[in-house]
Amino acid sequence: MEETMIQTDKLSALGIMASSFAHEVNNPLATINVYAEDLIDRIQAGDEDLDEEEMEHYLRKIKENTERCKRITGNLLNFSRKNDWTEDQIRVKEIIENSVSLVEHQLKKQRIQLELHVDRGLPAVIGDGLKLMQVIVNLINNAVDAMESEGKLIVSASESNGEAVSIKVTDSGHGIPAEAMDKLFDPFFTTKPIGKGTGLGLSVCYGIIQQFGGNITIDSKPSEGTTVEIQLPAERTLKAGQGVENQAGKSEIT
Ligand code: ADP
Repeated sequence: MEETMIQTDKLSALGIMASSFAHEVNNPLATINVYAEDLIDRIQAGDEDLDEEEMEHYLRKIKENTERCKRITGNLLNFSRKNDWTEDQIRVKEIIENSVSLVEHQLKKQRIQLELHVDRGLPAVIGDGLKLMQVIVNLINNAVDAMESEGKLIVSASESNGEAVSIKVTDSGHGIPAEAMDKLFDPFFTTKPIGKGTGLGLSVCYGIIQQFGGNITIDSKPSEGTTVEIQLPAERTLKAGQGVENQAGKSEIT
């Protein structure tokens, strides 16, 4: 399996985000401007060819691009917003089940087979449960995007070395080419078509897992599939003042 090691400093990631942000938002804004201006010009000129269907076309384009801006700013806010972080005692099983229920419809629609393996008696972890759900949903959505219909998705959780909880999301999708592996956590890196991907999903996950004091690793083999693993320190480990041990050879976020 291809593996990559990524150690990105949070501040530098934010710096990259800030500079890329203007560029990413400017494109859809420019498109909105062109469509709106054109529509106004045609209305003012009393253009008789401008029927309802065409007006709808203009408005749809404006809406699509507005939604794209909204997704980008929404993700960015999530990435940088720290104040609303809560410290819950999290039962990972519950979070996984809730996350899966949010995407179940999409899985059925794409006829994706789901396997859930959550070990009994997992230790609790401490952090923001909703944010952890956001990470898992994000990873599952990426997995779903990588699979044609009838793929296989495995979500598992187990105790790791008695100190951490390991959550894995494995898909049988198209995998990740070697040259993309070291860019995956870069803000705005996406291989998805415009309107589908913002390239902020994994960088947001990165920020959240960092706040948990955990790490996130990605392991992929082109045309076979991808596994993303999150390790979160168990509550008792945190109480004992230890963090998650970094494993040699794994991509890791600290
Ligand atoms: P986005 O999903 O908006 O593109 P992400 O930051 O979540 O942004 O992902 C960045 C890129 O990483 C994706 O565009 C895709 O190329 C790659 N990627 C992430 N997860 C997977 C996966 N499970 N399988 C294949 N490629 C993936």
